[in-house]
Amino acid sequence: MASLCIDSKNLALLGGPQAIVEEVDPKLFHWPITTEEDEQAVLDVIRAGNMSAVDITKKFEAEYAAWIGCEYALGTCNGTAALLEAFWACGVGAGDEIICPAMTYWASAAPALALGASVNFADIEPDTLCLDPDDIEHRIGKRTKAIVVVHYAGHPADMDRIMPIARKHGVKVIEDVSHAHGSLYKNRMCGTLGDIAAASMMAGKSFAIGEGGMLTTSDRELYERAVAFAHYERTGGPSRYAKSESAVNGDLARFAGIPIGAVKHRLNQTASAMGRVQLKYYPQRIAEIQRAVNRFWSLLEDVPGLRPHRVKWADSTMGGWYHARGLYDASELHGLSCEKFCEAIRAEGFADCTAGANAPLNSHAMFHDADLFNQGQPTVLAFGQRDVRQGPGCLPVSDHAHETVFGIPWFKHDDVELIEMYAAAYRKVASHAEQLAAS
Ligand SMILES: *Cc1c(COP(=O)(O)O)cnc(C)c1O
Repeated sequence: MASLCIDSKNLALLGGPQAIVEEVDPKLFHWPITTEEDEQAVLDVIRAGNMSAVDITKKFEAEYAAWIGCEYALGTCNGTAALLEAFWACGVGAGDEIICPAMTYWASAAPALALGASVNFADIEPDTLCLDPDDIEHRIGKRTKAIVVVHYAGHPADMDRIMPIARKHGVKVIEDVSHAHGSLYKNRMCGTLGDIAAASMMAGKSFAIGEGGMLTTSDRELYERAVAFAHYERTGGPSRYAKSESAVNGDLARFAGIPIGAVKHRLNQTASAMGRVQLKYYPQRIAEIQRAVNRFWSLLEDVPGLRPHRVKWADSTMGGWYHARGLYDASELHGLSCEKFCEAIRAEGFADCTAGANAPLNSHAMFHDADLFNQGQPTVLAFGQRDVRQGPGCLPVSDHAHETVFGIPWFKHDDVELIEMYAAAYRKVASHAEQLAAS
C-alpha cells in the first residue's frame, strides 16, 4: 500500500491528490440564469392579480413560435401534458401503438398508455443516442399511429432518415424536444422537423421556467385538436391565429367549455412571464454553453476511449447541451469499466459523473403489467393490441448504455481555467486506466 502514497500524480481513488481542487464558483453550473428582469416579470403578474389567465401565455407562445420558426405554439402546465396532447392530436387511441426510443424519460412514452395505446420500443444509435432509423420500419404495424423522436441530451435525431419512413407508412412524427430547445438540425430548429413537437420547461431543463411545457406545430388541425383536448376555454373560440373565426376547430367546437381530454393543461402566468424573459437571453446563453462544452472536448481530443457526444452534421448544434454526456470505449482503455471510470472521476472532485443515462424503459413494469383502466389485464394488451412487450436484452445499445455513456460537466459559462481543470481530471483518469483496471 505504501507505493500508493509516493506517486503524487496517482489517482484520488487510489490515494493520490484530487485534480479538481479549487473552490469552484457555483455560477459555473447554476441554471437557469435569472436576473431582476425575471423577478420583476413574475412580480408584475402577482401584483396584477391575474395568475390564472392566458393573456401572457399567448404572448409567450407567439414569441416562442417566432423563435423556433413554426406556425403555432401552445403553452402547457408541463412537458408530460404537452406530449399527451400531441399523442391525442395525432390520433393515438385505445388499441393503437406508438414507436419510441427505449432510452428516454418515461414521459416520452407513458402518455400512450393513458390513451389505451401500447409502446413498441426501438433502439438508439450508439453515437447520436437518438432513435435508430434502421430500427423503425419493421416495428410499424396496422395500428401504429406515431413515432416519437427524442433529441437526446440536445443531440438532434437523424430526421432526414426518419421522416421518409414515417411518410411512406402514413405515421405521424412527434418530436420530444425536452432536451433540445434551440438545437439545430442542418440549419433547422428542433421542434419544427416532425408533425408536432412537445417540450418540457421544468426547472432542470435547458429552457427552464419552473413547471411548464410547450407544444409546437405548423399543422393547423393538430394544433386545434391539442387545444380542444385540454384548453377548454380556447376551444372553438377566437385564437391568436384566427381572431375573427368563432368555430376554428370545426366539429371540435361542439366541445367548447369542456376539454375533450377531460384534463386541464393551462400554463401558470408567472411561468409564462418568466419564459418571455428567458427567451430573450436564451440564444446567447446557449451559445456560451456550446463554446464551453466544445472547449472541454477540444482539450481531450487526443485521449483514447473518450469521445464527444456531439453532432456531426454541418449547420447543426447541441442547443443548450442538456446534461452533457460523453461516449466511452473500454477497449481503448485497457478494459476499464465505464462505471469504474466514473467512480474515479467522482473521487477527483466532480461528484456528478455517472455512467449511463435514462434506464431503458422497455424493461419497466409499467410497459408490461400496469392496468390503468382496471380491466384485469395489462393496458398494453387490454384493447386488442399486438403484444409488443420487450424485456432486457432486446435493445442492445439502450441496454448497454451504462457501459458506453458517461457524464461530463454541464458548463454554463466559458471559464477557460476551470474547464481546463475539469478536462485535466478526465485526462488523468484515462491515463491511469491500466493501473485502475488492474486495481
Ligand atoms: C423532462 C422530460 C419530459 C417531461 O416533462 P415534464 O415537464 O417534467 O412533465 C418529457 N420528455 C423528456 C425527454 C424529458 O426529459
